[in-house]
Amino acid sequence: MEDAKSRMDSKHSPVIEVYDHDEFDIFTGNVTYATYGYYGDGSLHPIELAPPLPSKKCPGCGRKLCRLANRSTSSELAVVYYIDQVCKNCGYWEQWIDCSSASCFVKKFSVARLRKFSLSDKELPYRSMIRWLEKHPSDVYYINPLRFEEVVRGALSTAMDVELAMTVASRDGGYDLFAYDSQGGKIIVEVKRYARHRKIGVRFVRHLAGVVLREGAYKGILVSTSDFTKFAIQEAEAFRRKIREHPIEIEFKSFQELLPWLAVERVRLDSELENEQYWEAKFEKLGSVWLPL
Ligand SMILES: [Zn+2]
Repeated sequence: MEDAKSRMDSKHSPVIEVYDHDEFDIFTGNVTYATYGYYGDGSLHPIELAPPLPSKKCPGCGRKLCRLANRSTSSELAVVYYIDQVCKNCGYWEQWIDCSSASCFVKKFSVARLRKFSLSDKELPYRSMIRWLEKHPSDVYYINPLRFEEVVRGALSTAMDVELAMTVASRDGGYDLFAYDSQGGKIIVEVKRYARHRKIGVRFVRHLAGVVLREGAYKGILVSTSDFTKFAIQEAEAFRRKIREHPIEIEFKSFQELLPWLAVERVRLDSELENEQYWEAKFEKLGSVWLPL
């Protein structure tokens, strides 16, 4: 079974259904009481004289929805009331807007859209990726290698208590992540989302040691979903011991070792959904694309 997975066959990649966290533009009309809304499945429905009411339960996981504090905005022209409801478990949200002015009344609602993602999809939302990998670590071989860097960043930042940054903008630096420790020392991280049989050998250690030197860093970390060869480990030991003035520390981390920290990252992401400020920021963005009358 592992071999089949190691082939990274994206055709067989598991499919995950998640509520999309992207903002979702929605129709609104300045006609009296006739507008349209999207339901969770993405279909468009006209709302006639009796628009649907806010949901009581989350259509995704069945939990009770949480209603955020009532808010409204008003100008000389119109008064706008918002009802924002969220699921603090799965991330579903919905927003109901009543806008009234002297000339007309508009009702509008938008809801998070349920989307399907293949695990190998580059667009897979981060939270869903972490949640899935925590439960199915052997599916890591389906994850897009670039997205895997984000997984490592999340887990390793927590494990090391530093803020790792990605070098995505300029990929020619020869490393994927970096951080400065509390003393200002630089740490370089190289991430390999390799098939299980493709081991990390000596040349990876030499390459990373070279980058560590060039960057004036003191430590390099090699993270891989595959194993490290005996010679690679010996080579790292040589870099540590043989350069007296500037010992280079090369550390190896397997994906397995990161799993407990992945769990910590998942808890952090879940607690984000509990945070009302997280939701307020989301709705503020959503509201800003919609102009009152
Ligand atoms: Zn839910």
